[in-house]
This record gives sequence, structure tokens and C-alpha cells, in this order.
Amino acid sequence: MICPKRTSELLDLHLAPFKDKDPAWEVGVSKIAGRGVMATRNLKRGEIIFQDSPLLIGLAAHEEDTLNACSVCFKMLPDTRFMCRQGCGLPVCSLCAKKKQHKTDCDMFKAWGSNEPDVANSVIIRLLCVARAINLSKDQRDLIYCLQANLDNNHRTEVRNAAKCFKNFPTDKKIVEIMNRTVAVLRTNGFDKTTDRTTDNQEFNYRALYPLFAVMNHDCIPNSYYTFEEKTNNMIVRAAVDIAEGEEITTTYTKLFTGNIARHLFLKMKKGFTCKCPRCLDPTEKGSFISGLYCRDTNCSGLVVPEITGLPHPNWNCLVCKQKSTHAQMMKSQDFASGAINAKVNSNSLRTLVHYLNEKSDSFIPSSNYVVIDAKLSVLARLAQGREDCNEELVSSTRLRYCRDITQIMDKLGLGDSVLRTQLEQQLHKEEERRAKKQKELAEKQRQLAELEQKAAEADKLLATLAVADESAAGAGDGAAAPPPAPAAEQA
Ligand SMILES: [Zn+2]
Ligand SMILES: [Zn+2]
Ligand SMILES: [Zn+2]
Ligand SMILES: [Zn+2]
Repeated sequence: MICPKRTSELLDLHLAPFKDKDPAWEVGVSKIAGRGVMATRNLKRGEIIFQDSPLLIGLAAHEEDTLNACSVCFKMLPDTRFMCRQGCGLPVCSLCAKKKQHKTDCDMFKAWGSNEPDVANSVIIRLLCVARAINLSKDQRDLIYCLQANLDNNHRTEVRNAAKCFKNFPTDKKIVEIMNRTVAVLRTNGFDKTTDRTTDNQEFNYRALYPLFAVMNHDCIPNSYYTFEEKTNNMIVRAAVDIAEGEEITTTYTKLFTGNIARHLFLKMKKGFTCKCPRCLDPTEKGSFISGLYCRDTNCSGLVVPEITGLPHPNWNCLVCKQKSTHAQMMKSQDFASGAINAKVNSNSLRTLVHYLNEKSDSFIPSSNYVVIDAKLSVLARLAQGREDCNEELVSSTRLRYCRDITQIMDKLGLGDSVLRTQLEQQLHKEEERRAKKQKELAEKQRQLAELEQKAAEADKLLATLAVADESAAGAGDGAAAPPPAPAAEQA
């Protein structure tokens, strides 16, 4: 373990521009692993714990990405002529081309000599975030070396591949070693566009290293969450729940809605550790049954969960009839359900998907299963875009139902605040308000209708009375108006 005190000193230097005088956190010895970030006082849910700025940041530039974004300000540029005219092989906008940051990047890459400086190459653009480590100050570089790095066999591949894109790529061992180390730290602690960390429904389009955040340990039910400030790309970390003084502040490296086994595999393979948090030790995942499947015995309506977690291929147990199944057997059920639901998710009609989730899928997969949750999240995302083939009532009832379903699962898991929860609660609130307004309008219409009906009834009554009055008046008048006997007749 790297000494928490040295890490703190380096972090203090990094955070100097915005560190509080009386910070709510300190780096200390963790019960989870090595070192971690601890609360120095009681924190209320929603309170800002710290702000972190990226020590390294660059375009993610994955192979499938469009590459016409400025490598300094990240703004999208017209897709013709966006490459630096100095021949460094980096895309840059005319404003940033004059900035100090680009001057440094430009000098470095020009000296390395890109093979095709006028063609945007994702390998070169992606490497920039890593290569920027070379020009950091010694303290900043020490901070990178202070962070956890998974130095597995693959961590040298990126730099090795990038070297092939330049004529004079550095051969100095020290420089290559800085880059390889940075790649390993980024892979362990960094953010990457298609992030393996939970995006929690947040878009993050860069490759970046936030050093204080990188010191935080993982928990599958994190007690903090983060957002990004658009202008600065700074990260704001807040308390997801109330946190007591001395408690460790945790984040999550995985998606919130994946089952124990998938999370276990991911953390083991990508992050190199086994999580032993309460959720991971509980086969029902706190009663949320996110990995739950139906019993294979068709006469039994029980749910089946992995016997113990922390194994790649556990046996599964039915909670009702106690029948055991092998991992392979249960994975068949899961794969079948995933295939069926994902096929509907990828189809065009949202109405069909909603109908399937509401009426059909429950017959072969419990609605608590993560595949169903993911499908509901994608329905909500599509509804938010508002270009769907559904009528207003279906949109409204689906939004209400799915937002409630998902927040209920979050409650069961004991998940506090998060960007996703805020979004769901906002949608729910809006929908409930809309419904209440509609009901009020309907009640008002009914009241008006009743009033009209009453008036009509009164009018009828009045008419009837008038008619009677008319009739009797007519009866009396008959006599009075009877023509007097014609005198002529009398005379006759
Ligand atoms: Zn720019
Ligand atoms: Zn340049
Ligand atoms: Zn866990
Ligand atoms: Zn059973």
C-alpha cells in the first residue's frame, strides 16, 4: 500500500485551487482495501463531499467514434479540415490551436512524426490522454504513481500499438514506462467513454483520470454519487445517503443493476479484486432478486438464486422447493430470456415492447431480473425522446409504472441518491402532476356538465309549469272567448 500521508500531500497540491479549508474527507486506512477516502464529519444526504478535477483528460476516440472533435476543448468541428495545420496529427479548433496546451501536445507529437499527419487516426488521438502524463510536473506524475494500477500482461499493448503510427516514437525506457504505467492506472481507476464504471445514465465522452476519486474504494451499494460540471469537466461527489463521521466514502465501479455473478466477474477480470460487500454476500441481493430466475420445476413457483456468490459457476437453489440446479442450467434460462427481451428492445415498435414486458415476459422471467430492469430503462429513455408510436395514455401509464418499479428496486437494494434516481423521481413527479391536473380538469368538466344538466332540468321544469299554466289559461279562455250566439241566428 502506498502511504496515505504521501497520497494526501499530492492530492492537496492537485486540489489546491478548490479544496475547502475544512474538507469533509481525508485519505485513511480502509477496511475494504488498502487506503480509502473517509468522512471527517457527519454528512447529510445530497451534501457535496468534494470536487475533483481531471489530472489527465483527452478524447476517448474509440475506433467507432467520429474523430472531428477538438483535442483541447472537445467541441465538435466541421468534418472537413479539422486537423492541426502544423502536422501534429491531432484535431484542433482554430482557437485552441493557439493555446499553450496544444503547443505542448503539438510539439511532442510533431517530434514523434505521425505517419499520416493529415488523417485523423483514433490510436493517436486516444493516446494523447496518456502521453500528456509525460509533460506533467514531478508531483503530478508522482500522484499517478500513487494510484492503484493493474499491471497485467495487456497494459503495454496500447503504447506498443501506438508506436507503429509514428516515425520517431520515443524509445527512452523511462518515457515508455510513464506511458505504460498511465495506461494501467487509467484502466484501473480512470473513466472511459463506454465506461465500465456505472454511468448511472450519465454520459461521459472522455478518457480521464480524477485522482481523488481514484482513491475511493468500491461498494456495490455506494454511499456517494457523482456528476460532472460541463464547463470545466470537474467532478462533484455528493453523499447518496447520510454518512457518519469516520465512515468510508465509497463509489461503485459497476453498473447498479447487474446481478451478483456478473458483477463478481467484472470486478475480478477488470479491476482485479473480489467484492465482499453485504449485497455481494447475500444471494437474494437484499431481497431485490436482481439475478432471480424461475424454478425449473414447472409445478413450483419459487425463485432460484445462486447458492453462494463470489464463485464464477455457483450452484443455484430454489427458495421454495429447495431443488438445486447447475450454473449451466440456469444460465440457459437467463440467456433465453435475455435473447427474447433484447430482440424486442431492438425492434422498432415501443408499443410492442411495452406490451411484451407488461403481459408476456413475466411468464418466463421474474420482473425483478436485471434484463427486465434494463429493458424498462430503455423504454423510459425512448419515452423521454418523445418520438414514439404510443398514445398519450400508454405513455403516461408506462412512465408511471416503470419509474415506480425501478425506484422500488433501488429502495430494496438500499441505494440512496443517484443521477438515475433523480431522473426517475422527476419523471414520476411530472407524471403524477400531469395526472392530477387532468383529473382536476375532468372533475371540473363533470361539474360543469352536472350544472348544465341541472339547469336543463330546471328549464324543463319551468317549461312544464308554463305549459300547464298555458293549458289552464287556455281552458278558462275557451269559455270566455266563446263567440256569443250569433244574433242573426237568434233573429233567425
Ligand atoms: Zn478547441
Ligand atoms: Zn498541432
Ligand atoms: Zn459488492
Ligand atoms: Zn422450486
